[in-house]
Amino acid sequence: MAGTEARPTITWLPSCGGLDPSVQLLIMVDINDLNIEYRVSPRRKSIGIMVTTEGKVVVTLPRGASRESLAQALERHRAWIERRVSERQAAWGQLKAGEAYLLGEAFRLTVLKGATGAVSLNGPEIRVPLPAGVDLWSRLVAWYAQRALTRLQARVAHFAASMGLSPGPVELKGWKRRWGECHPDGKLRFNWRLILCPPAVIDYVVVHELAHLKVTGHNPRFWGQVAAILPDYAARRRWLNREGAPFLLWRA
Ligand SMILES: [Zn+2]
Repeated sequence: MAGTEARPTITWLPSCGGLDPSVQLLIMVDINDLNIEYRVSPRRKSIGIMVTTEGKVVVTLPRGASRESLAQALERHRAWIERRVSERQAAWGQLKAGEAYLLGEAFRLTVLKGATGAVSLNGPEIRVPLPAGVDLWSRLVAWYAQRALTRLQARVAHFAASMGLSPGPVELKGWKRRWGECHPDGKLRFNWRLILCPPAVIDYVVVHELAHLKVTGHNPRFWGQVAAILPDYAARRRWLNREGAPFLLWRA
């Protein structure tokens, strides 16, 4: 029952802290000790609430937003905010526990300074020989990208055959906000970070993009195409939405 729940605590602080001269007050509202960051956007007409990949709440306010409208918006979305924050924080914490990921599993990153040779998998570790003057991150990304390309090309060929499609070449991207995209010319682009995710999730993204070669947009006909190939696509998609976000920003 709403009446028995603790209401958000609202503290009004004088001064806008230099944030935006049109804002008379800087507001602090806490929901169950959640730290909320407020931004003011003159372009916004209504209050926007988002939860970042790391599990931080960001509220964007239009100029002159009233304290009542803010309290109402937070109260209305309280359950959603709390659920989203705990999901994101749990996913983020899990990701930090390992040092490097491959196909959804955590590996220890062992750097062999001054050594030469190829990057290799050795039991629970990824071994990276690092000759003098070579950057660790670019070496590692090149290794991931090669594995990503090989796997994505193979999975695209596999699913394209069963979907009766002849897609164009596979390209890799380093986006921070998306996993894949498909162009009408048949070219498929994927985020190299997909190789960090479990194989079932990689397959979902591949089938999703291939299905766009048949149907643009996310309408029931589109999801029907995806479901015909991956009947359990909803669970894979849910994983990507809940656990996948931190992987998008991994060592960004
Ligand atoms: Zn799509």
